[in-house]
Amino acid sequence: MKTYRIATIPGDGIGKEVVPAGQQVLEALAAANCNFRFEFQNFDWGGDHYRRHGVMMPADGLDALRDKDAILFGSAGDPDIPDHITLWGLRLKICQGFDQYANVRPTRILPGIDAPLKRCKPEDLNWVIVRENSEGEYSGVGGRVHQGHPIEAATDVTLMTRVGVERILRFAFRLAQSRPRKQLTVVTKSNAQRHAMVMWDQIAAEIAAEFPDVKWDKELVDAMTARMVNKPATLDTIVATNLHADILSDLAAALAGSLGIAPTGNIDPEHRYPSMFEPIHGSAFDIMGKGLANPVGTFWSVVMLLEHLGEHEAAARVMKAIEQVTANPALHTGDLGGKATTAQVTQAACDAITKA
Ligand code: ATP
Ligand code: MG
Repeated sequence: MKTYRIATIPGDGIGKEVVPAGQQVLEALAAANCNFRFEFQNFDWGGDHYRRHGVMMPADGLDALRDKDAILFGSAGDPDIPDHITLWGLRLKICQGFDQYANVRPTRILPGIDAPLKRCKPEDLNWVIVRENSEGEYSGVGGRVHQGHPIEAATDVTLMTRVGVERILRFAFRLAQSRPRKQLTVVTKSNAQRHAMVMWDQIAAEIAAEFPDVKWDKELVDAMTARMVNKPATLDTIVATNLHADILSDLAAALAGSLGIAPTGNIDPEHRYPSMFEPIHGSAFDIMGKGLANPVGTFWSVVMLLEHLGEHEAAARVMKAIEQVTANPALHTGDLGGKATTAQVTQAACDAITKA
């Protein structure tokens, strides 16, 4: 029997509640399916680790993850620790260390969810956003000088390499090609940013020539926000830079009904290293420890994890269980206007998987 080695990193806040819930779903799946099993290893990295050891994760942390088939991550964020430490000290260290250059965010309105777009049908919104995840506006290049003086200045350099842009666009075209509509929208801001974004546009046209069966168009990021709200059905696969897609995918999650539902994969498409799957929400300290977190974003991340492992049938089984759960208002958590607990939603999802 095949064994998949899965690292779990709950991290901070409600990550400590939703990651064990995701593990429960994987265990229910393995029990119901005799083709594979999971071997879990848990890593207690994050804010508490920082308070004990002065670092979010140990220096040799990546080595401990390297032999895993995938990583299930919760969140990194702590009210007492600056964001640049929680983010760069854990999540980004893994994304960059394992060259997970494609951040993939599917969005659709699940059954039973009351989404804010009243003028469109739920089926009009079925997107997957591809975010460049290794460079761009979040390259970390820059500096700050003359602090406290009138001539104080700071820069954050947008670093775009031809290799980086080519590989994310090729990934996005390939993904678009694999979806029924074979349609890709390339988002830039090349009217105002005259160097890197113009190169991005040019490379998009070059890569498009490799995918003659994919219909593609370009959109400026400002116009894109309006199009997502007004004409959702005109979009399918979307690719954008690190910053632009970060913003667009939060908008997408809100349009689909809740931040608590949306999943992400940080993917190394070449399978050289483990890829990492996580809900898009953060640590949500306001509800932590109360058993109120919506675990659906983590369950959907589990679906992406299974797809990445090539277990498509199992992925479909979990997705069906998620849809059964969201369709039932009695299983809605607070973010969806309901009263259900993390434990109730998790139990219902596991039952649906067992019965399927
Ligand atoms: P971070 O700083 O780590 O990003 P945050 O405190 O900004 O965390 P988010 O997780 O980004 O919080 O979400 C914002 C708010 O949305 C939370 O404060 C919480 O009330 C709500 N929320 C987010 N995720 C969930 C969830 N899974 N279930 C229920 N409510 C959620
Ligand atoms: Mg946040």
